[in-house]
Amino acid sequence: ATKPTILILGGGYGGMVTATKIAKEFGHNDANVTLVSKHNYHYQTTWLHEPAAGTMHADRTRMPIANVINESKINFIQDEVQEIHREDNKVTLKEKGQVDYDYLVTALGSVPETFGVGGVFEHAFSKWTVNGAREIKDHIEYLFAKYNNEPEPRDDYLTFIVAGAGFTGMEFIGELSERIPRLCQEYDVPKNKVKMYVIEAAPTALPGFDPELVEYAMNLLENRGVEFKINQPISEVTAEGVTLKDGEEIKSQTVVWATGVRGNPVIEQSGFENMRGRVKVEKDLRAPGEDNIFIIGDCSLMINEETERPFPPTAQIAMQQAETVATNLKALIKGESLQEFKPDIKGTVASLGGKEAIGIVGNKKLYGTSANFMKKMIDNRYLWILGGAGLVLKRGKNPF
Ligand code: FAD
Ligand code: NAD
Repeated sequence: ATKPTILILGGGYGGMVTATKIAKEFGHNDANVTLVSKHNYHYQTTWLHEPAAGTMHADRTRMPIANVINESKINFIQDEVQEIHREDNKVTLKEKGQVDYDYLVTALGSVPETFGVGGVFEHAFSKWTVNGAREIKDHIEYLFAKYNNEPEPRDDYLTFIVAGAGFTGMEFIGELSERIPRLCQEYDVPKNKVKMYVIEAAPTALPGFDPELVEYAMNLLENRGVEFKINQPISEVTAEGVTLKDGEEIKSQTVVWATGVRGNPVIEQSGFENMRGRVKVEKDLRAPGEDNIFIIGDCSLMINEETERPFPPTAQIAMQQAETVATNLKALIKGESLQEFKPDIKGTVASLGGKEAIGIVGNKKLYGTSANFMKKMIDNRYLWILGGAGLVLKRGKNPF
């Protein structure tokens, strides 16, 4: 019999863990497996707030895909996915045209959600990718360098706005507020000239998270000079800065957008029924009505039956889904019955720059150095799953 073809779209958390698990558990004769991703490198999206603020080199967040996948079992194609043709079992790629599949795993991640706020794509930084992070870092350094070369002081050069106090916004401002004193020293800029704002639409920062830990994080960041504007949605971004719903304008040359995400546009483009680009998947992680298409990670939507709300799109869930998908692919090929995916949410830990962090693991609240330790261990655990002890030693973070 001819081998079935498995196509994995996206080399992020979901795609890489699927490929890694298939490489470990499938024999050479079980399937032809191909991974398609836009870049020849894999990057850890969850680390990107660090290179964006310039507290880590961007190269530390990425690795050549060829170095981490087992090339004897997984083919890699570098290309951009444009559309999935469900009726024909084909995917259109930008450069290489059409590729066929028998089984498809879609793990293309997310893009920024603007909720209709104008000017985001023109005037704000919103790309949480390696290229996006490098652009933010270089832009901030350029403004520091430019500040002392202007005939009149330009306060907007030194005013930094983060839109959204979700985990992305909070982790980014954590890193930036850590770095600002060093930037001031390096570029001869008085620290009191720098303004940092976090602007949040909801009545609290980190809505839904433990209030005590939110307060810890806000106090810490305020002590580093961050000003929170809570309950104040941004209604527009312009070349001059932002306008809030109450009409207030804040002038800034740097607006970093972190108000949440929607599923990759390929989902909508391919005609899947979706909610903000996310497909409400079946319990076995297949798209409704599709017996050979799995959708995982930020492109998928699952309802948490306890809260009746969607699970937040996280790497934690993407990786767990990937494990189930690899198992289910094997079952499908063998004609066996499929497993139901059961998320096992271990907690949430967020870094706040330097050795600071907050988190909940199990029922335990963590902050400061213990949370920082936990965060680094979580980052290292992912490397362990991808490439074992060798990758942790080479690319891991020092938890102390
Ligand atoms: P991704 O990991 O984003 O991977 C998608 C891949 O698809 C990328 O490699 C991309 O290049 C590729 N791709 C995209 N479009 C195309 C295309 N058209 N063609 C080909 N390839 C394409 N979650 C946590 O659980 N814990 C955290 O601590 C955490 N921290 C975060 C910090 C930040 C700064 C951000 C932005 C997010 C964080 N998240 C965290 C969320 C987490 O990063 C995502 O939920 C996770 O990356 C989703 O995995 P994924 O596989 O769906 O997508
Ligand atoms: P999010 O949806 O979690 O937070 C976005 C925030 O922006 C919300 O608080 C929202 O009220 C606010 N907002 C929306 N519109 C606004 C407006 N017009 N003006 C001002 N504020 C506005 O999005 P995120 O922080 O990008 O996170 C995306 C996903 O990644 C989430 O699932 C998150 O849990 C996950 N994540 C996890 C970690 C971690 O575990 N350490 C870190 C980063 C991201």
